[in-house]
Amino acid sequence: MKTGPTEMQPTLLLPPERIHKLTGYGMRTHADGYLFRPTSVDEIRRVLDIARKSGRKVVLRGAGRSYGDGNIGAECVIIDTTRMNRVLSWDAGTGIIDCEGGVTIEGLWRTTMEDGYWPPVVSGTMYPTLAGALGMNIHGKNSFKVGTIGDQVIELDVLFTTGELRTLTPADDLFFAVISGAGLLGIITRAKLKMKRVHSGNVKVLAVSCHNWDDQFKVFNQFEHDADYLVSWIDCFGRGASAGRGQIHVAWYLNEAAELPSSLRPDNQDLPDNILGFFPKSSMWQILRYFNNRLGMRFINSAKHNASLLLGNGKEVEQSLVAFSFLLDYVPNWRKAYLPGGFIQYQSFVPREHAKEVFSQQISLQQEAKLESFLGVLKLHKPDNFLFSHATNGYSLAQDFKVTPKNWSRIEALCHKMNDVVLSAGGRFYFAKDSTLRPSDVKAYLGEEALYKFKQFRSTCDPEGLLTTDLAKRLELI
Ligand SMILES: Cc1cc2nc3c(=O)[nH]c(=O)nc-3n(C[C@H](O)[C@H](O)[C@H](O)COP(=O)(O)OP(=O)(O)OC[C@H]3O[C@@H](n4cnc5c(N)ncnc54)[C@H](O)[C@@H]3O)c2cc1C
Repeated sequence: MKTGPTEMQPTLLLPPERIHKLTGYGMRTHADGYLFRPTSVDEIRRVLDIARKSGRKVVLRGAGRSYGDGNIGAECVIIDTTRMNRVLSWDAGTGIIDCEGGVTIEGLWRTTMEDGYWPPVVSGTMYPTLAGALGMNIHGKNSFKVGTIGDQVIELDVLFTTGELRTLTPADDLFFAVISGAGLLGIITRAKLKMKRVHSGNVKVLAVSCHNWDDQFKVFNQFEHDADYLVSWIDCFGRGASAGRGQIHVAWYLNEAAELPSSLRPDNQDLPDNILGFFPKSSMWQILRYFNNRLGMRFINSAKHNASLLLGNGKEVEQSLVAFSFLLDYVPNWRKAYLPGGFIQYQSFVPREHAKEVFSQQISLQQEAKLESFLGVLKLHKPDNFLFSHATNGYSLAQDFKVTPKNWSRIEALCHKMNDVVLSAGGRFYFAKDSTLRPSDVKAYLGEEALYKFKQFRSTCDPEGLLTTDLAKRLELI
């Protein structure tokens, strides 16, 4: 059968070689999309045109480090901006860096560290791109002190699907919507931000063991006005009087006498290839796999708690900024230990006064369901002005749930119960860590007004409604 030119066109625009099976970091769901990796603004415009002509929606994707479905879209054109990764200018005098959106957090610190500057906000991994980090408006272990990454931005360029490239600053309302907007308003192509001046490549880290939730909040209260970073590991298997047990790490920047101490050299920051000096990190996930079940994780969490009480409690050490900040990058491919079903991360943000009660209830609910989170991480935050803000004057608890072919409906039911507890306490959620929210949950925490404002912005920034994600569809954001 002969094919006419019009029938041929969609195939030419979107050849099958472009089809990639993509997933969020948790690997629970996958979606096939047509992957494009443009290297310039003009090339992005051309890809938008291809999407338009072939009747496809467009998904923006950075390094794919969001856990859920916020960076995938079935049968969509995927614009992956990781190749737009040039540092456009760096001024060691002012600490201001100007770069393309595909520069990673790693790219930032590798550029500025030897001049005595560190990214003001980093996630628990160094691999996200700046544009992806702004899309979700990430926070770090210093969230209570400096806010989110959006709070550090001086200006950014956004390409709208109309083809217009606009520079936005904090004087623009739209600035606060594009940052946090989950890639649904425009393509961030460039951002300028102020890096944090540091006088050492190391931080002083104090470990404090906690027997329960009361201890946790007492220690956070004790250090929040003085520390630069605060983060706690929670053993989600702890119950009764031990519920909320874990270990807090409090950290402070250091001052070294030398103008540019050797700790600032990037090669002195690199994570080691081996654990305990001999065991290759690259093989760790294969061992982790054998423990990655309820019994194994109960054992590991308990052993970690006991070791922290006996050996670590009250100890102060110096650690490189990289080792302290990117603990999760120590074990490459650790997520593979969750295969074949993958995992989800669930993070809720709760006002201070309700945090203990809400997190205790969440953990009781998962223990009753025999679906305990294998990892719990507690952080302190402050509120911000971004449209889809997850932050609050309170605490967040991030939890990882292993998904198997059999347990998904039970995990969903558990998360929905936990959502209700969070919402009744005036809490919030985070799209980067979401796989289970319902549209009604989003309406309840963001409010009708924010969602209306978002739709108004979308009608001018993306009038054809090209931009989408599976998350946006699931949550009826678009
Ligand atoms: C091990 C690990 C630890 C983490 N720790 C933290 C943490 O401590 N704090 C925290 O806040 N988050 C944390 N995260 C989540 C991660 O930082 C965020 O999900 C971040 O957004 C990922 O960036 P990315 O480049 O991978 O973007 P993706 O996940 O690919 O995309 C993120 C969002 O940005 C949009 N987007 C991508 N590119 C663009 C663009 N050019 N313009 C506009 N929008 C775009 C996408 O559509 C999507 O909605 C962690 C993730 C992992 C895997």
